[in-house]
Amino acid sequence: MKLTICWLYGDTMNIYGDRGNVLALAQRARWRGIEAEITTLGVGQALDPDAVDIYFWGGGQDREQIPVSSDIQGEKGTVLRQSLEDGAPMLAVCGGYQLLGTHYHPYGEAKLPGIGFFDAWSEAGPERFIGNVVVDSDRFGSLVGFENHSGLTYLGPTAEALGRVRIGRGNNGKDGQEGCVRNNAVGCYLHGALLPKNPAVTDFLIQAALQRRYDIQELEPLADDLEVIAHAEAIRRAEVTR
Ligand code: GLN
Repeated sequence: MKLTICWLYGDTMNIYGDRGNVLALAQRARWRGIEAEITTLGVGQALDPDAVDIYFWGGGQDREQIPVSSDIQGEKGTVLRQSLEDGAPMLAVCGGYQLLGTHYHPYGEAKLPGIGFFDAWSEAGPERFIGNVVVDSDRFGSLVGFENHSGLTYLGPTAEALGRVRIGRGNNGKDGQEGCVRNNAVGCYLHGALLPKNPAVTDFLIQAALQRRYDIQELEPLADDLEVIAHAEAIRRAEVTR
């Protein structure tokens, strides 16, 4: 078996260490004897949804989001949105997460349209949220990461939050929510990278991809001793730093 992980805009939206998510997805597949290929898709490149098993879209600075926002309008954005609506698994972090909503409005700049997959929108303010984060989620239990964003994300009436902020600021520092989930797509502000210390999310994405491509219902568990230790240490560190 083989899974293809497509890193959207990996050549430009890649400064927050989110590559670790792509490596974690590939490695946890390979540990299970599943071949994993990592592809990247940049501005101007056409998206073939049949060639993708898992999407990853990382963070990026405001100026990097401008050409990407333009690129994701029209046919490419429609294809991506339809793929997600059909249940394609995706992790989108920060800048990528923002553009899965209706728009991201950088502070004092022009509004950047997203693809409107999440019923959510983001407005940047003068303050930057930076620091360790701990979130409690129904789907995955506790989640740990690091946030670095000025965009504040607000969820609409049909949106489901990923979880509740235990430590840190999250979507907007006001409503206690962090991230958004819909179908098999997970959006959040959790850099770190997220997946190496949160294996439940990695396995959720891999499982969804195997089910769609090969109709496999069960995912063989892995020994996660190191991930559990790293996760607990990240919580401890968040408790003493924020
Ligand atoms: N440029 C966006 C913001 O500042 C996203 C930042 C990021 O991807 N870390 O909110």
